[in-house]
Amino acid sequence: MSRLLLVSNRLPVTVKADKDGVSVVRSAGGLATGLRGPHERSGGLWIGWPGDVSRLTPQQRASVEAQLAELRCVPLYLSASEVSRFYEGYSNRTLWPLCHYLIDRIPEQERDWDVYRKVNERFADLVARHYQPGDTIWVHDYQLMLVPAFLRARLPQARIGFFFHIPFPSSEIFRTLPHRADLVRGLLGADLIGFHTITYVRHFSSTLMRLLGLETVVDRVAYDGREVRLGAFPMGIDAQAFENLAKEPAVLEEVRTHREKSSELRLLLGVDRLDYTKGIPRRLLAVQRLLEREPTWRGRLRFVQVAVPSRTAVADYAAYRDKVDELVGRINGLYGSVHNVPVHYLYRSFNERQLTALYRAADVMFVTPIRDGMNLVAKEFCAARPDEDGVLVLSEFAGAADEMGDAVMVNPYDVEGMADALEAALEMPEEERRTRMRNLRARVKEYDVHWWVRSFLDELQATPTPPPRVE
Ligand code: UDP
Repeated sequence: MSRLLLVSNRLPVTVKADKDGVSVVRSAGGLATGLRGPHERSGGLWIGWPGDVSRLTPQQRASVEAQLAELRCVPLYLSASEVSRFYEGYSNRTLWPLCHYLIDRIPEQERDWDVYRKVNERFADLVARHYQPGDTIWVHDYQLMLVPAFLRARLPQARIGFFFHIPFPSSEIFRTLPHRADLVRGLLGADLIGFHTITYVRHFSSTLMRLLGLETVVDRVAYDGREVRLGAFPMGIDAQAFENLAKEPAVLEEVRTHREKSSELRLLLGVDRLDYTKGIPRRLLAVQRLLEREPTWRGRLRFVQVAVPSRTAVADYAAYRDKVDELVGRINGLYGSVHNVPVHYLYRSFNERQLTALYRAADVMFVTPIRDGMNLVAKEFCAARPDEDGVLVLSEFAGAADEMGDAVMVNPYDVEGMADALEAALEMPEEERRTRMRNLRARVKEYDVHWWVRSFLDELQATPTPPPRVE
């Protein structure tokens, strides 16, 4: 196996500083879990930003570096201005809303492109410095779209893969971006470009045709004397880990506590980062609408919405939070009683164990993003249901919808339709619930995160390395 150099904006670690010194802790996220095995087995490196370390003393910084080296992680430090312009700026204020079809959220005058480009170049320089002939490079996500081309210029012979974790929008949306062609050329530095769904691959192909006149033949594009492959690799989760947690006695005890507190009630669950792509306001309105039109459900529903604080330095996120706060207050004011309120809104994050207890306790999981590259929460819910019960209500605009046909599908823009779907889910007969959940679980377990990593890397290994250039 060749050495794997993983490249992502964030390293899969958290740096914690307290009075006893600093420690570097591995993150638990899906990507980190899936890639840990291949990263360690290949003896490779993971290159990325370790988070803000500006307040650390030089000794603490040295200790962080030693601990990162133990984990085979190479830090790329970002200055405060780079964080604000590359990460919060171009990545999260422009590319993020663009790829989620929200072009009105993009600043009218773009000022952060130069910094985005610079930081991408710094990433490529650092990767090139650590590269050894024979290494395989795998770059991740929309913050680093220019890295493949910068790498190709420095390492013409390298095998480079890229995975795009968010939706790739229709070319009609993508071509509104002033730097559209630079970004696409950036990606074409790779040998293999992966997306979650066939639809995103198709959008990318038509963008190539429209912007650069390049034709995709089946899954290949000839570009700059090389062949670039495109593919759909739907990302999975560590399904076994969620299933194991869902069977642990301590977790089952927590499930009983959740259910006891609502023994007379049906439990609806939403779990999201507090992000304007997640469709939380219309989801709340659907709950409100159901209570409004069906008085028999009043006092019989508890909707637990977990909203994880996210990107709080970006103004749009603060405004979105206010909107959600207001809606929660309004619904609880209208339909709450002295003993109960319909919406339990939790603005905080939970660990995997706590989430698993919530997933397993829920009658209905309500996942209604207006756009989402994949949505792993929908898959985690199914993995956490070895009891084969619970109903998944899922937005047709989540990448996960392509694989999860046994969910109750909704259009997240249609509040009335979501209220109907919610009611259907709450009233679904047990046999139908079990059949659907069995099918969903079979899929989630087979196509897990380990399958995803394997299939992408196998395909990348199968790409021919480019012929040496004749100067
Ligand atoms: N998550 C978490 N704690 C929480 C809520 C969510 O660890 O309190 C995790 C969740 O388990 C999932 C991820 O955050 O793995 C969210 O991934 P998803 O694809 O659903 O959405 P994203 O946040 O990447 O847009």
